[in-house]
Amino acid sequence: MKAVVYKGPKKVEVKDVENPKISKPTDAIIRITSSAICGSDLHMYDGETTFESGRTLGHEPMGVVEEVGDAVQLVKPGDRVVMPFNIACGFCLNCIQGMTNACLTLNREQPGAAYGYVDMGPYEGGQAEYVLVPFADWACLKLPGEPGDEFEDDFVLLADIFPTSYYSTELAHVSAGKAVAVFGAGPVGLLAAYSSVLKGAGEVYIVDDSDERLKRAESIGAIPINTDDGDPAQQIMEMRQNNKNLMESLRLGEEKTLGVDSAIDAVGFQAYDRENPNQEKRNQVLMDIANVINAGGHVGLIGVYPKENPAADNEDEKQGNIMFPLGKLWEKGITIGMGQTPVKQLHVFLRNLIFDGKAKPSFIVSDRISIEDAPQIYSQFDKRDTVVKPVIKFGAAAK
Ligand SMILES: [Zn+2]
Ligand SMILES: [Zn+2]
Repeated sequence: MKAVVYKGPKKVEVKDVENPKISKPTDAIIRITSSAICGSDLHMYDGETTFESGRTLGHEPMGVVEEVGDAVQLVKPGDRVVMPFNIACGFCLNCIQGMTNACLTLNREQPGAAYGYVDMGPYEGGQAEYVLVPFADWACLKLPGEPGDEFEDDFVLLADIFPTSYYSTELAHVSAGKAVAVFGAGPVGLLAAYSSVLKGAGEVYIVDDSDERLKRAESIGAIPINTDDGDPAQQIMEMRQNNKNLMESLRLGEEKTLGVDSAIDAVGFQAYDRENPNQEKRNQVLMDIANVINAGGHVGLIGVYPKENPAADNEDEKQGNIMFPLGKLWEKGITIGMGQTPVKQLHVFLRNLIFDGKAKPSFIVSDRISIEDAPQIYSQFDKRDTVVKPVIKFGAAAK
């Protein structure tokens, strides 16, 4: 079968690799119809992680069950399914508490496993014609309809970024009427803003330097903040100061709280230095968030921070140690939530929002490609501009 294989920094190739085989009775094999490329695949593509050359990428696959092991009960060949990017057993201590992002049995090195991902175990990725799904009864979420139908591009986003984005709003305690700032208008940032809108947030600001991406954010009711126009924290506070209704209804002292109640970092460790945009500045977003968050506010760090970065230019950052404005955050009494999403907790409910017509996350999908075009789309996506969310299509979904 064909698969997208990592071959070193800035290099992926489409290779013929062996088809996966059922090796445990709890396994299933899925024939892929859509497989999305993730912003977090770019961290590996850029060579900024310890991901091994020769491995298949991809942790956002969906498709049709091709074959199941003898112990699989809930799905059968022909069923249309999507799996969380997390691979989990469903029965370990962490799994039974819902922390399926930190499964204790499927990765020798550390808690948590995933398809085709650095540090997440030996599992092959899903940017391929077929993928092996361990513990299929736990993993497979059944989907209505047919491959290539009107929901195909919405359902594929259930593998990772719709749940991940929604989870970031949970980490940041987004709820009705709150002011929210989302940093990064990539796929996760856009869907974090969208999830905030779905939850009834008052003002949803979204920060980026790409007009193209900010335009997409505006289309769902978010307020664009372009970092080319200066310090984003300053811009947000000025906008709030210019809100006549807000200013006329302040309580005594409330003018000190013209930042936001919730902030989401959907950028992670590959943030650009605003003063020097050709360079990365690991803590740029963390610094901006510390400035814009109100006292007592909540922050969700959903953009990736890896525990090792071989491409970093100093020893601390090579070890994943990043300077953090702890004093400012402490003084404001900020709560920070972070980490990988336990997708399964949200899976059923977000799927139902889609088929009930309440959510249409596919507004972010920008490119639908064949697997042969993967190397080219990786290099365009790496510019983090007009390619927002590319999806590889197979079979009926390609038409
Ligand atoms: Zn992803
Ligand atoms: Zn487990």
